[in-house]
Amino acid sequence: MKVKIEVSARHIHLCQKDIEFLFGKNYKLNIKRELSQPEQFLSNEKLTIQNQNYFIENISVLGPAREKTQVEISMTDARKLKINTEIRESGDLVNTTGCILIAPNKKKLQIAQGVIVAKRHIHVNPNDEIAKFFKNGDECNLKIKTKFRSLILGQTVIRISDKFRLAAHIDTDEANAAGITEEIFGEIF
Ligand SMILES: [Zn+2]
Repeated sequence: MKVKIEVSARHIHLCQKDIEFLFGKNYKLNIKRELSQPEQFLSNEKLTIQNQNYFIENISVLGPAREKTQVEISMTDARKLKINTEIRESGDLVNTTGCILIAPNKKKLQIAQGVIVAKRHIHVNPNDEIAKFFKNGDECNLKIKTKFRSLILGQTVIRISDKFRLAAHIDTDEANAAGITEEIFGEIF
């Protein structure tokens, strides 16, 4: 079974309260580009992540607003920021590390938790063939083969929802490990 691989760069999801704190009252994120998952979009808004004296600038905010603010970075980013983080599924933020988020207007928001390295996953619609072989929360192997590197990514979570469109999401560390430079499909088994 084939699935399109999409590489998630570091990004931030904000709750409405945090959007208003950072950007102003009743502020709405501006849509730059629609993403593959229905209603999800890349916004024009960017923030800086700070931990102690370490910074990563220009991190895109994804919309729409979420229930909880969540910062998704790679393991490489975590090292750079000297943040102790964990690989977690989206939304599973209990006992994760916090950081400071800085808006272009220099406004700073300290979040107590929410920095994660996202666990790789596949968005599956119940109508997809794959949904016949797995249930929500199952894990699979995802094989990616590029010209010079082939990689089997174990423990890839299958997430099934009628709000999803079929796509595998891996982060930039995983994409680099597989040598991905162009559009590519993986194989689920
Ligand atoms: Zn995803």
